[in-house]
This record gives sequence, C-alpha cells and structure tokens, in this order.
Amino acid sequence: MPQDIAYLVDADPAPGTLRDIAPGVRWLRMPLPFRLDHINLWLLEDGDGWTVIATGLATDENRAIWQRVFAEALDGKPIHRIILTHFHSDHSGLAGWIAERFGAHLWMTEGEWQRAQIFHHARSAAWMDTVAGFFTLAGCDADVVAATRQRWSSIGDRVTPLPARTNRIAGGDVIRIGAFDWRVLIGRGHAPEHASLYCAETDTLIAGDQVLPKISPNISVSPEQPEEDPLTGFLDSIAEFRTALPDSATVLPSHKLPFTGLHRRLDELAHHHDERLGVAWELCATPRTVMEVTGKLFRPGLDSLQTSLAVSEAFAHLNLLVSRGDLERGRRSDGVFEFAQP
Ligand SMILES: [Zn+2]
Repeated sequence: MPQDIAYLVDADPAPGTLRDIAPGVRWLRMPLPFRLDHINLWLLEDGDGWTVIATGLATDENRAIWQRVFAEALDGKPIHRIILTHFHSDHSGLAGWIAERFGAHLWMTEGEWQRAQIFHHARSAAWMDTVAGFFTLAGCDADVVAATRQRWSSIGDRVTPLPARTNRIAGGDVIRIGAFDWRVLIGRGHAPEHASLYCAETDTLIAGDQVLPKISPNISVSPEQPEEDPLTGFLDSIAEFRTALPDSATVLPSHKLPFTGLHRRLDELAHHHDERLGVAWELCATPRTVMEVTGKLFRPGLDSLQTSLAVSEAFAHLNLLVSRGDLERGRRSDGVFEFAQP
C-alpha cells in the first residue's frame, strides 16, 4: 500500500522566505503574479559555490528578492550553475540575468533548450498567427482568441535572454552537486523533456513541475502542433516514475509544499486524468469542439490565462482519445476541430 501524503511544513511560507529543507538543499519561495501565486526554487550547496534550480519570472520584485539572497543567504559564495527542469518562464525567467551576474553555467535538456529558443524569441507576427489559429481551431470565440494572443505576445517580457552556452543534460545522467549525486529522470507531457533530479543517498526528488501536490501539472497541446498527444507521454512518465523511485522519497515540487507519499500522488494524478478522459469521451457522444468540452470539464469563471490553459488541456485529453481510437477528429464547415465517438 502506498503511504499517505504528508507535508513537511504546515503552511505556505511568505515570498522571499528561505529555509533548509533537505540535506544540502535550501528552499526559496518566490512570488508569481498569477492565481498560482508562487514558485519554489532550490539552492544546493555545491563546493565553493551554489547550484540553483529554477530562477523565477523576470520581474523587479523577484530581482529585489534575489539581490537580498545574493547579499545575505549565500555565505559569500557565488551561484556557479543554474539547472532548469524545463523552459517555462516562471522557471527560466531570470536564468540569463543570474548567469550574466555570476558567469554561471546553464544546464538543461536538449528538448527544453530547443523549446526555450522558440518561446524566448516568439514575438513574430507569424508565431502570433499560429497561436491565434490554434485557439480558433479549438472553437474559442474572438474575445478568447484575442486574450490568448495578447498573453502569448507578452511571454517574452517576463524572461531574460538565456546564455548562448548551455550544458545539455539527458535522462540517466548523474550530476554531482556538492556532496551528493543527483540522477536525471525525464518526464513528458508538461514540457517536452522535463528533467527531475533524484538523490538516492538522501532519498530526495526535486520534481520540478512533473509531480505536484494538490494541483495537476498542466498538460497542454502546443499551438504549432494541434494534433499532438502530450497526455500519453505524461501518463507513461507517471508509470516510469512509480517504478524508478521509492515511495519513501521526499518530494520537492516547484509549486505548493514539499511532501512524502510519492506513489499515492502519482496514482492520484493517473486517476484524475482517467476520470477526465471518461468525461470527455462521454461528452463526445454528440460532436463537440474543444471549447465546448473545456466548458464542461472546468469550472466557470476562469481568467484569460486559466482559460487558455484549460483549452489546451482539454485539447490534450481529446487528442489522446483520438490516439487510442476512442474518438475521431473531424472539422466543422468553418474549419473548427470537432471530436466525436466513432
Ligand atoms: Zn511548468
């Protein structure tokens, strides 16, 4: 029987708070200007310097927090390595800024590096048209398409350019950080080649966004690949993590609180998607657009960011059902995708 989920601390720390959370690991809480209002960063003691995992969005507030951390919390030692689990801007936003300040090296997987190149430079009209086309295909009305276009066009404002030099990491690599070895585990679905790190000696998993407590990592279809099926990859990764990692591991997630109960959480995430797949399939007894399914799968009153994430996530569930042969994807006369049971 998997153990129950238990949290290492009782309450969310205030933004900017630092605390020791695992051997050689300091936890830094940073604010995010969204409904999900924070991200967890990890500072790892690394010989004569520090390795930092995730960096926060490129906002003035986060720069100020970092300045205080640089001055007061690093024992006078520099950050000499930045590891990004994946390319998302809340993780990668200040990587270029920190790299420049300390001459720190950036480490990330090939898949995440490539995706970062697209998103960190995605300001072209052609890219914005692709984004707008994606949400139109999903059956979103013009207001939602305009809001998502607006949101995507501002993504580049919250990231600093990544350094040109990058050390690539891959699944199975072992990275020595200070006194400990950390093994890279690749997760799919939330991002193309997400890297989690596991230290067997301290039984600690730096999960990134691949495994989160309380919230399900967003699984989104990418605008430039509207027929892709990222959810199959995510579910495969859940099964792989369950086999590869012990239930006893301390999990350090990028959002919410550190916890134990890894296998139960993996089971819950698999169950959550199974349930959603069942609901989406039943809805398609009559032909449905992605937007129609989104409206039934998610609670009403989402803001524009949440709506675009919800649409992309409903898309992922529908595309998986198409991959399995449980649904067919056709087009309405206006070109909008429509999903139906065969
Ligand atoms: Zn993410």
